This record gives sequence, structure tokens and C-alpha cells, in this order.
Amino acid sequence: MASLDKAYKEIEGLLGSKYITEKDFMKAAYSRNVDPAFPDRWADMIVRPVSSEEISEIVQIANKFKISMVPRGGGADLVGGSVTQGGILLDLTRMNNVFHIDEENFYCEVEAGITWGALISKLNGKGLTTGVLGPGSGFSATIGGGLSNSTAGFGSTKYGVVPDICLGVEVVLPNPQGSIIRTGAAANKFAEPFCRYGVAPDFTGLFMGDVGTMGIKTKAFLKLFPMTPFKAHRYYMLNKNDYNKVSELLYRLRKKVRDGLRDVFVVPLVTMQLVASMVENKPLKRSRLKGPIFSVILEATDERILNIMVEQVDDIMKEDARGFEMQEVDLDVPLSKDWKFNLKYAYNYFNKYISVAPPKISCTTCHKVPISAIPEVAKKSSQFDIANRNEFPVGSISLFATVIFLMPNGNCVIVGGFNADNIDEQRETSMKMWHKKLRLQVRYGGVHYWLGEAISQSIVEADAYTTDFIQFFKDMKKAVDPNFLLSPNKFHMYSYDDDISRHVIKED
Ligand SMILES: Cc1cc2nc3c(=O)[nH]c(=O)nc-3n(C[C@H](O)[C@H](O)[C@H](O)COP(=O)(O)OP(=O)(O)OC[C@H]3O[C@@H](n4cnc5c(N)ncnc54)[C@H](O)[C@@H]3O)c2cc1C
Repeated sequence: MASLDKAYKEIEGLLGSKYITEKDFMKAAYSRNVDPAFPDRWADMIVRPVSSEEISEIVQIANKFKISMVPRGGGADLVGGSVTQGGILLDLTRMNNVFHIDEENFYCEVEAGITWGALISKLNGKGLTTGVLGPGSGFSATIGGGLSNSTAGFGSTKYGVVPDICLGVEVVLPNPQGSIIRTGAAANKFAEPFCRYGVAPDFTGLFMGDVGTMGIKTKAFLKLFPMTPFKAHRYYMLNKNDYNKVSELLYRLRKKVRDGLRDVFVVPLVTMQLVASMVENKPLKRSRLKGPIFSVILEATDERILNIMVEQVDDIMKEDARGFEMQEVDLDVPLSKDWKFNLKYAYNYFNKYISVAPPKISCTTCHKVPISAIPEVAKKSSQFDIANRNEFPVGSISLFATVIFLMPNGNCVIVGGFNADNIDEQRETSMKMWHKKLRLQVRYGGVHYWLGEAISQSIVEADAYTTDFIQFFKDMKKAVDPNFLLSPNKFHMYSYDDDISRHVIKED
């Protein structure tokens, strides 16, 4: 019997035939995500374990037969991270329990396969929140995916990226023993998982943003916050399309209003124009769009503080912008005064802008830059698009940003990319341009977050890592994954002996 068949039989013996499959229609169903540049990729088998112990045994079998593995949460990845050509695809969504919500000590213990939507609904019922609410895809994306992709999303302006709320994880290492370890305070078997640092070096960090290369996260310990009772939402339209002003205003908001800012989004003029042309419920008379729209959500523990913050924001914006309402272009969006925060708002907010021209889908290039870099980055990005306009897939639109959002300290996320058709004829061109644009961003100092395959490989191609760093990365991975089985291909790493620098691409 070939090794694959033997491994299949052993895993089937472990999980029962209901939770493992090699049927074609199932492989096809798991063969791609929302990433048009990738071809369909079929795993050899899809397994759906329910506990860390089962995963540990699967890992031992994979090591015995030298079969590669890729972890998958909600499969809402956009960059080729949670699919695999061959090997075992580990679907973690059966691991969706909330073990403990500690209302007194403000942390929770959950399984990695639970979705953000399910967890946050539970927490909100108790007046609690994780602050950052995971990605725009949070109704289907999981906590494990958010930690592995260093996800930024709703609430990130105040609470940071998902790893910032992580107090530790339980991980199955891909080594031949399938070791199960806990990090953070949970590494002390006598302690509750209420804090991250102090028991040992911060090994939690080893698994954050690793895109499933260092271990399989099975549990997460997350910070909780009481829900902040008072919230206000305001929109402003800049008087002109000026990214120097965008950068200056973001800086002033960050400096003056600080933690009162829950979410600050800037929707560029071009995105607003596209959205305005597509909305279903248009007003009879529409306002002339002159510049980017600022969407500012404030929160406070007391209504008086909230009112002061609204005044502060008005004051900062008054010289260069006017108060705006989305109803000036789209009657379906509530007026600011009627706005209510709910999960539908948090998770559907991005969708209108992520695929501005349906039915195409996006080759996303979301990345972080310092506030002060925005004007320069906007210029470089449009110069790139103009210089390469004939190389993009036919009919595609490339946008510097569909949304820019503010993060803690001087960070900003630029959500952007270009769209392409999900057809075989466009895949090669899309992939080529996608990597080329990502390399540009890496070289101007942009820092991405959901790295998957497309972005992690582009960072290597841009020659961003030093030789010493690559060696360190390989040494760390080898310590947990000596047979090199977990998520091969990411970071252009195909074996420990391979010279990654051969993938560096010098631009013309
Ligand atoms: C409409 C839409 C909106 C989006 N908005 C955002 C956004 O605002 N911000 C953002 O960051 N992303 C966004 N994304 C991308 C993506 O959904 C997120 O990054 C999300 O966190 C992925 O979670 P997931 O559970 O779907 O992970 P998957 O797609 O299943 O996996 C993502 C990566 O993590 C690894 N992984 C998953 N689970 C584990 C685990 N338990 N252990 C180890 N590795 C694991 C996988 O191997 C893969 O590399 C969006 C996608 C869509 C389609």
C-alpha cells in the first residue's frame, strides 16, 4: 500500500470515516479561496479533527509517512494560505468551543476554530468584547486564522491587530511527537492564562502571523474588555483630494483624541466615486465629491467625555473638510445620528469596498505604512499603476487604496489591490502583476499582514530579509518541524537546504 493510503487508513481509524475524505467533490470544494490568481489546488485528503490530542496523533502519522500538512480555519484567506496541492488539509472548524469566559479577570479561553461572529455574539451578551473584532470576513473567519494572519479589522484603530489581544495559545507542533505546548501565562501549569509575558521568552510571538508555518493553533487565550457604552459616528469630506492633508489630519486625530478613536477610516475619492456609481438607492440630487471621506467612530465611558471628543474632532476637521453623510450618495446608509454599532456593520463594512466592481475579485495588497508615509506611498502606487498599465489583466482596476485605516501609534493600514477575473486565462498575468506590486510595497517599507503564499513569497522576492534572518527563521522552524511538513511553499521555503535568495527578483 502506498504511504498516502496507509496514512489515510490510520487517520480514518483515529477519527472515523465521517471526518476524513479523499472524495473529488470534497477536494474540489476545498480547492480555492477568494484568490483569483491561484489555480484550483487539491489536497490528497481533508481531515476534520475535534481535539488537540487528535491533531497530535495526525501529526505523528504525517511525520511517519512524510506527508505535508496545511491548517485551515474559515478559509476566508485571500492570498493562497489555506489551500494545498497534495498532502493533508486540516480543517479546524469543528474545534469551536468557548471553554471559559472569565468576567472577573477579563480573559477567555476558546478553541481556534471558532468564528469571530460566534465568539463576539456570546461576549456581547455579557457586556464584553475582544476590542478588535477580527477581519471583515468575521462571520466565517476563525480566531486561529486571525492570529495566524496578524489580522487587522474593525476596532484596530484602538485595539491593534489580533495578536495584540492574545495572551497565549495552545499549539500542536509539527514535530514527530506532535508535542502539545501552551504559551504565555498558560506555560505555567499552575497559572490561569490571564497575561502573556513573564513565564518564559514570549513564545506566543513565534506563532503570531506565522501563516500556519510554525504550529497548529488549537486554543487561544484572549484579552477581554468591558463594552464601551457610548459611541458616536461622524463623516467628513475633505475639500480637496490631497493626501498630505489626509496624513496631517490622521496625525492630529491620533495626537489629540487618542484612545477615544475606536475606528478611523478614510475612503479615497476614487473609491467613493466608484461606490457612488454603483449604489442601488441613489438620492435624486447627489453632492459633488471633492475629496476623501473620513469616517470617525468614537467611544467613551461617559457621554460628557464623548461629547468633548466629538467637539475635538470637529475642531480638527473644520479647516479642511465639511461634515458629510453617506446618504448624500447612498440612501441605504443610516445617518450618523441614527448609526448603531452591530456585528453586521463591523463585518459587512468592508465588503462594499473590497470588490468595488463585482463580479471581479481582488488580488489584495493590504499593508501598513507609517502615517507620514501616506502621501509618498500614494504617489509611488499610482506611478506604478500608470507605468505598468498594459501589464494588468484585461479589464482590471488597480486602486492605491479602497480604504485607509488608522492603527494604534503611528500606523495606518492601506487596504487595496487590483481586481481580476476568476478565469484560467488571467491567472498567470494576475499572479505576475500581483507579486510585482507587492515587491514595490515591500521595497518602499510597507509591512503586510496576511502573508499566505502570495505575499510571503513576494517579500522574499523583494530581498527584504537578510541572510542572517533567513537562517534564524529556518533554524526556528527546524526546531519545531524537523521533517519540513507544515505549510511548505510559504516564504518560498521548500526545504531547509534550499537557498531562498535564488527567488530574489531585480526589477528592470
Ligand atoms: C470579504 C473579506 C474581508 C476580509 N477582511 C479582512 C480584514 O479586514 N482584515 C484581515 O486581516 N483580513 C481580512 N480578510 C482575509 C481573511 O479573511 C482574514 O485574514 C482571516 O483572519 C482569515 O481567517 P480564516 O479563519 O478564514 O483563516 P484561513 O483562511 O483558514 O487561514 C489563514 C491562514 O492562517 C493559517 N491558519 C488558519 N487557522 C490556523 C490554525 N488554527 N493554526 C495555524 N494556522 C492556521 C492558514 O494556514 C492560512 O495560512 C478578508 C477576507 C474576505 C474574503
